[in-house]
Amino acid sequence: MIPLKSPEDLVMLKRSGEILAGVMEKLRSVLRPGITTLDIDLLSEELIRKEKALAAFKGYHGFPGTACVSVNEEIVHGIPGERVILEGDIVSIDLGVNYGGFFSDMAVTLPVGRVDSDKLKLIEVTKQSLDIGIKQAKVGNYLTDISHSIQRFVEGQGFSVVRQFVGHGIGTALHEEPEVPNFGRPGLGPLLKNGMVLAIEPMINLGGWECKVIENGWTAVTADGKVSAHFEHTVAVTDSGPVILTQL
Ligand code: MG
Repeated sequence: MIPLKSPEDLVMLKRSGEILAGVMEKLRSVLRPGITTLDIDLLSEELIRKEKALAAFKGYHGFPGTACVSVNEEIVHGIPGERVILEGDIVSIDLGVNYGGFFSDMAVTLPVGRVDSDKLKLIEVTKQSLDIGIKQAKVGNYLTDISHSIQRFVEGQGFSVVRQFVGHGIGTALHEEPEVPNFGRPGLGPLLKNGMVLAIEPMINLGGWECKVIENGWTAVTADGKVSAHFEHTVAVTDSGPVILTQL
């Protein structure tokens, strides 16, 4: 069952998403060479608390951080720690907020200082692929119309789509039905209805799509060691079109 949200639920989800977008904006402004991934994590926790909200990832299935901070070849679920961020890195920050029992989820990938042009293109294409996917999140479309539009665009740009991790429904839990893949044939899965809320999150690799999870049991990295980017928004499907909840 895919839960449909009421207008009142959407008001709460929008507030949750705005808090998250505001926190992300501040994190973006402090990202620079020399800070550690833990610095980002501690600041994100402080900023979320200041908004009287909770960090949705902390303790989720035992995840130790507030944010997932994934650097370069790390795709998702980077555990914040002593790793120092360097000029030329690309850093994915994935963050979830629980505001009064309503969840929002968002990720961005940011370049640090001067970054190679192929990495910048990867970031740009990943961001655009999210926008393209969101446009398909409309009443009357099938779920995999989103998936297919992302894959088609990304592969047309010469990059590859991660298969092992996918987006998801979201609302009164961080992860709800349905799964939202970033690849596949169009016209499959449930029809999209007014009141569905989806976290759409393409994870796109510069090289091959294959990935592996490292010894910490959490962090996924590319199998070929090339860099990866990740963008995510929490999006409501409504009769008047897709509404991005995780923006100011
Ligand atoms: Mg997510």
